[in-house]
Amino acid sequence: MSGAQTLTKSWTGNELRETFLRFFESKGHRRVRSSSLVPHGDPTLLFTNAGMNQFKDVFLGLEKRDYNRATTAQKCVRAGGKHNDLENVGFTKRHHTFFEMLGNFSFGDLPGQPGYFKKEAIAYAWELVTSPEWFGIDRTKLYATVFGGAEVSPGSTLGVDEEARGFWLEQNIRADRVFAIPGLKENFWAMGETGPCGPCSEIFYDMGPAASEEGHTDCKFPCDCGRYVEIWNLVFMQFNRDTSGTLTPLPKPCVDTGMGLERTAAVLQGVISNYETDLFVPLIESAAGLAGVDIETEKNRTYFMVGDDISSSTSAFRRGGYLPSLRIIADHSRAAAFLIADGVIPSNEARGYVLRKIVRRALLHVRFLHAAFRRAGFPFLSRIATQVVDTMGSGYPELEDSAARITRVLDEEELRFTRTIDRGFHQWEEIRERQRQDWHSSLVQELEKEKPEEGLQIDQALKRAIEGKEPRIFQEFVRKSFGPARLERFIREWNKAGKLPVSGADAFQLYDTYGLPLDFMTDLARDAGIEFDQAGFEKAMEEQRTRARASWKGGAKEAANPAYAKIAEAYRTEADFYYGTSTKDCRIEAIVTKSGAVPELKAGETGEVVLDRTVIYAESGGQVADTGAFYDPSGSQVVAEVTGAYYPVAGLIAHKVVAKETLRVGDRVAVAADAARRDLIMRNHTGTHLVHAALRNILGTHVKQAGSLNSPERLRFDFSHFAHVDPEELRDIEQQVNDEIRFNTQIETNVSSLEDALASGALAFFGDKYPEHNVRVVTIPDSRAPRGFYSKELCGGTHVHRVGDIGVLKIVSEQSVAAGVRRIEAVTGIGALEHYQQRAQMLSQIASKLNVGEDAVLATVEKLSETAKQLEKQLGDQKRKGALGQLEELAALVQIVKGVKVIAAEVPNVDREGLRQLVDSLRQKLGSGVVALGTPEDGKVALIAGVTKDLTAKVHAGKLIQAIAKQVGGSGGGRPDLAEAGGKDTLGLKSALSSIPSLLEEWL
Ligand SMILES: [Zn+2]
Ligand SMILES: [Zn+2]
Repeated sequence: MSGAQTLTKSWTGNELRETFLRFFESKGHRRVRSSSLVPHGDPTLLFTNAGMNQFKDVFLGLEKRDYNRATTAQKCVRAGGKHNDLENVGFTKRHHTFFEMLGNFSFGDLPGQPGYFKKEAIAYAWELVTSPEWFGIDRTKLYATVFGGAEVSPGSTLGVDEEARGFWLEQNIRADRVFAIPGLKENFWAMGETGPCGPCSEIFYDMGPAASEEGHTDCKFPCDCGRYVEIWNLVFMQFNRDTSGTLTPLPKPCVDTGMGLERTAAVLQGVISNYETDLFVPLIESAAGLAGVDIETEKNRTYFMVGDDISSSTSAFRRGGYLPSLRIIADHSRAAAFLIADGVIPSNEARGYVLRKIVRRALLHVRFLHAAFRRAGFPFLSRIATQVVDTMGSGYPELEDSAARITRVLDEEELRFTRTIDRGFHQWEEIRERQRQDWHSSLVQELEKEKPEEGLQIDQALKRAIEGKEPRIFQEFVRKSFGPARLERFIREWNKAGKLPVSGADAFQLYDTYGLPLDFMTDLARDAGIEFDQAGFEKAMEEQRTRARASWKGGAKEAANPAYAKIAEAYRTEADFYYGTSTKDCRIEAIVTKSGAVPELKAGETGEVVLDRTVIYAESGGQVADTGAFYDPSGSQVVAEVTGAYYPVAGLIAHKVVAKETLRVGDRVAVAADAARRDLIMRNHTGTHLVHAALRNILGTHVKQAGSLNSPERLRFDFSHFAHVDPEELRDIEQQVNDEIRFNTQIETNVSSLEDALASGALAFFGDKYPEHNVRVVTIPDSRAPRGFYSKELCGGTHVHRVGDIGVLKIVSEQSVAAGVRRIEAVTGIGALEHYQQRAQMLSQIASKLNVGEDAVLATVEKLSETAKQLEKQLGDQKRKGALGQLEELAALVQIVKGVKVIAAEVPNVDREGLRQLVDSLRQKLGSGVVALGTPEDGKVALIAGVTKDLTAKVHAGKLIQAIAKQVGGSGGGRPDLAEAGGKDTLGLKSALSSIPSLLEEWL
C-alpha cells in the first residue's frame, strides 16, 4: 500500500453534505431537517449556532423522540452577541457569519434500539473520513486529539480520556498521531454552568505550510498557526455537573458531533481557504463580475483602500487588494439569504439589528468596490443572494420558497442604506479631506518656519507639485533645500494625514444630523486603518442628551393674565375631553376679562371662563383648541359660544367665550364641543404620529420633531432633516402611513412616569414640557413590528379610536422652513377626498383649456413649453442682433478721460447675454479702454463693465461696477477685466452711467 492516498474525486459542497447524511442513515440514524436559524423557545440564544441546539431538551431528558440516533446538516449563524466574528470575516480563511454544521447524535438507548458512545462515534468518524468508499481523505494528513485532563470543577480533577485514545488506536491510527490535549478550553465541553458535560475528541487535517498564518514552514502538530485545521469535533456527554460542581456519570451518555462543512469542503477540494471552495467561488466571481473587479489582478495588489498619500503604506491587513470585500459580500449574502428565509427582517432591534448590520456591512464593501471600479450598480446584493438560493436550494428548500422575499427585503435595505450613506459618506470624506489639508498645510508651515527665506519657493514648488499631481517635484525641492533626513521626516509626517482619526464630535454630528449609523463609521474607520474616537462620540452624545433634557424641563411659560395665578391657587380644571365631546353640570369657577377676575359676563360681552370640568380641548401639543358652546343646565339653550380654549397656567383651562346670556361665577352649565370638527382634528393628529414614525423609518432616526399643528383642515409637521425629501421618499412615507391605516389597529393610551415612558421607547418632543409623572403615552400597536408598535409618543392630544378611522392620508407639500428644518403638510379623511377632487377638477380644466383629453395634458404642455423656449431664444437672438447693430453708434460715444478711451451708455432692448457681447465687441474695437453698459429690463437694471487688460491695474471692473450699481439700488462684482451687476432703480440708470467719467478721473 502506498503511503499517500490521493482523493478519488473532488467533492462539491452539496455532495459532501448529502454524503455525510447518507453515511449516517446507513448507520441507523434518522435524517432530521435543519432547525430554523431563529431558535424556538430558547431566549438565551440569538441565532442557532450548533447542530445540537434543536436537541437541547432531548439531551436534558426534557423531551422524548421516537428515534435515538439522528443526523443533520444544521444552518448556523455566528454574529453579534458573544461569538462576534463579524470583523474578521473576509480577512481570514475560515471566519463566516453563516456556516453549516454536519452532525451525528446519539441520545442513549431506546427499547430495542441501542444508542452508542465513544467507541462507535470514533469508528464512524474515522470510516467516513478515510474510507475510499466515502471521503477517502489521506490518513497521513490526519491527527486525532483526546481530552488530556484538567480541573473540571474546584478541587476535582478529571484525568486523560484513555478510553477514547484506546478507541482511536483500534482504528489503526499511529500512536504518535493521537494527542492528549490538557485543559478545559479545547477538549472539554459543557452545556452550561450545570448540566451535561464531558470530554471531546477532534480530527485535524494538515493543510501544509502554505496554510500557516505565521509563515511556519516546518511546524509540528498541534501548532495553532492555521496549518492544522480541526474538521470534526466529537463531544461525549458523559457527566452531569450539579450546582456544587460535582460530576456524576450520566445514566444515558450521549454523543453530539460537529463537522464544519466549509472547511471539510476545502480539504476535499484540495484548497487551503474555505473561500476557495465551490461554496464561495461562484458567489465571489459573480460579485467580481458585477463590480468590474479582475480577481487575478487583485491577488497581486497590496493595498485595500487607497489614500492620496505621497507613498502608499502597506500592511498585512491590506494584502489581496479588494478580495476581502468580495469575500465579505459572498459570506454576508449567504447569511442574509438564510436569515430572511427564516423570517428575520432588518430592523433596529435584536436579530433584525444583526441582520441589518450584516447587510449594511456587505453594502459598505459594495460601495468600496464602486468607488474603485465604478461598475457596481443597483441592485447588487440581491443578485448574489439569488445565486445563494440557486446553489443551496436543493439542500434547503425554504430558500426557494422565500426567493422573492429575499430579493425584496435586500433591495429595500440597499436603497435605504444607499440614500443614507450617500449623504453621510460624502460628509465623512469632506471631514477627512479637511483634516488632511489642515495637516499638510501645518507641515508646510513648519518648513517655512525653519527657513523663512525659502517661503515663496516652498509655496511654488508645492503648487507645481499639486498642479502636475507629481509629488516628486516637491520632494526634490525639499531634499535640495533641507537635506535628505528632513525630507524623510517630512514624508513620514505627511503620510500620517491618511491616519488622522475623525473626532468624536464630528462623528456624532454625522450620526445626529446625517443619520450615518455608528457601526458604519467604526467600520469605515477600521477599514481605513484609522482610530475611531468612541469616547469623544459618547461624550458628544451625552452632551446632546443633557441639552435636550434641559430644553424640556425649562420651557418658559406664556405671560397670562395675572388674575389666573390667583385662580390657580384655588381651582384647577379637570380635562374630560379624552372621554367625549359633551358633558353636563360644570361649575363656572371664575370669569376673567381685561379688567381681571369679574363676577359676571353680560350677554354680548366677550371674556374667558374657567370651569371645574370641561370637554373643550385646550390648545396644546400642536393640537388646536375645540370650539363649542355652553348650554343651560337642561342642555336646550345656548348661554355662550366657545371660540377657543387654552392653558393660562398649568392645570387651568380658560375658555374664550362670547356670552349669549348673562354668565355668573357659580352658575352650572352643560358643555359641548363641536364633535364633527373634533373628528377632523383627531384624524389629523393621529396622522401626525403616523407621519412622524414613517419619517424616522424611511429617512432615519435623526429625524426629530420640531413642531406640529393639528387643525381641522390639515396637519403640519416640522422636523429636523438636512436635505429636501425626495419625491420617492415622500411616496414611500405616504405608502407606509396608509399601509398602517389599513392595518387598522386600536390605539392605546396609558399614563406612566416620564422615566418609564421614555424607557419603553416613547418619543418625546424636546420642545415640550412634560411633568415627571402622569405623562400620557399614545401607542399605535402593530403586531408586525419588532417592538410590537408602529408609533409610541408622549402626547396629551386626542386621537381616533382605530387607525383606520383616518381613512386615507395624503401629503400635499414638503418644504424648508429654516436651516435643517423641513415641513410636511398633509390631509386626511374628507380633507384628502377634497384634495383629490380639487386636483381632478384642475386637471379637467387644464385639459379643456388646452382642448385635449386629460391623458394628453402632459404631452401638450411639454410641447407648449418647448415652443415657448424656442420663441424666447429667437427673440433674444433678434435683440442681440439689433444690439450689435448699435455697435457703431455706441463706439461713436467714446470719450477720453485722462487719455483713456471710455464708453458709458444705456442700451435699450437687449438681454444680459447681448449686453455681454456688446461690451466684448466694444472692448476689442477700442483696443485699450473702459466700457460700461446698462439696460433697463422688466423694471430692473442690468449693468456690465469691461476693462482692457492693460488698464486693469488702475481700473478694476469689479470696483467700477460696484460703484455704479450702488446708484441704482443694486450690487455686483466680478473679475478685474469684466464685472456684472443688477439693480432695481431704472430711473437712476442714466445718471449712474454719466457718473463714470468723474469716477475714472480719480482712479486714472
Ligand atoms: Zn505552525
Ligand atoms: Zn401627539
